[in-house]
Amino acid sequence: MKSSITNFQDDFYKGKKVLVRLDFNVPISNGEVEDDFRIRSSIPTLEYLSRRGAKLIIISHLGRPKGKPESYLSLKPVINRLQSLLPEKKIDWIDECIGFKVENRIQKLQNGEILLLENLRFHSEEEKNDEKFAQSLASYAEIFVNDAFSVSHRKHASVYGVPTLLQYRLAGLQLQKELKYLTKIRDEPEHPFVLVIGGAKIRDKIDALQRLIDKAEKVLVGGAIAYTFLASKGYSVGKSPVEDDYISWAAEILEKKEKILLPEDHFVAPNIDERNSIQLVGNEIPSDMIGFDIGPKTSQNYMSIISSTNGTVFWNGPMGLFEIREFSHGTMDIVIATILARLRGAETIVGGGDSVSALRKIIANKSEVSHISTGGGASLEYIGGKVLPGIEILKDK
Ligand code: ADP
Ligand code: MG
Repeated sequence: MKSSITNFQDDFYKGKKVLVRLDFNVPISNGEVEDDFRIRSSIPTLEYLSRRGAKLIIISHLGRPKGKPESYLSLKPVINRLQSLLPEKKIDWIDECIGFKVENRIQKLQNGEILLLENLRFHSEEEKNDEKFAQSLASYAEIFVNDAFSVSHRKHASVYGVPTLLQYRLAGLQLQKELKYLTKIRDEPEHPFVLVIGGAKIRDKIDALQRLIDKAEKVLVGGAIAYTFLASKGYSVGKSPVEDDYISWAAEILEKKEKILLPEDHFVAPNIDERNSIQLVGNEIPSDMIGFDIGPKTSQNYMSIISSTNGTVFWNGPMGLFEIREFSHGTMDIVIATILARLRGAETIVGGGDSVSALRKIIANKSEVSHISTGGGASLEYIGGKVLPGIEILKDK
């Protein structure tokens, strides 16, 4: 167990400076936050600490600025959104994350006040876990809180170096929730456990897949990764993407595990742009075609398996190139089936950046699934059994 912000008496935080690492890596266009899901996820932790009189200093990254300031990657637009989500709190922003200006402002922080610092990755020292940089950040506060699970697999200064220097290093509420669900999926999912996997590459997910396939009663495969499985069985997949280095892995898994289901029909096209030439085909894809989505027969079969489960559904990876409407049917069917499974009492967890954006096209309310995992790469590493540096460094209880 990791030490969490809820392990202390309420008066512990009063007047103390708390450095909170959040993930405000949100899409911004024309100076406006386009999707505030990650900002909203941070509110419970900020509210909890602010209400108890802590002086909060938020640090985050945004995008990949390569170690120098880029105005379009400034965290400034986040302030308006944060203020509208926490209307009663005093929130301020400063256009730097280290230096005198920051130090002076922190000296003047009032109890309960929240200060957001500029993008950490404007300094190359952040990703290098530079000791001096970590010391500067650590000098701002007595307590460190990690509520950015999605970067916890990175040994960056704000994730790893800073907490090594502070006595109190605690898990925030969102990080705790993420750990609770992912640990359960990894170690003891409720059965029957239906695993739905898709997305771009087996390579990115291999350790997590290996572990989850062992635990699951049914594995439903879709997306680009399905073509490597189909190719390993000798089907013609046309010009669909195949990961040659994983064909033998796929063949081995399929031989041992009859619980794995592969698509039986596909929407195919000669390329992404020729959408008036889309065809529905069975399991032999013509040599000049690419599979871009699972077909209706596959989707109906998958939907009925998912929606009749009352144990666990874990879904990672879209069933097709869902960003294009014509190829989004399979993925949207999985979203609907996952919502139905939740209504039947199943624990439903959706992970992966792209899967979550597909989910958010349909759901109106977070509670339509049990847990939305925003971890991406970090979630897969965690499920695959890796030790995440940013989690490991948080003190054991
Ligand atoms: P997640 O972010 O949910 O973990 P991935 O990053 O593994 O998912 O994969 C998502 C990407 O895979 C999406 O951009 C989607 O368009 C793409 N994809 C899925 N199936 C196909 C396909 N058949 N052909 C091309 N791209 C696909
Ligand atoms: Mg992705």
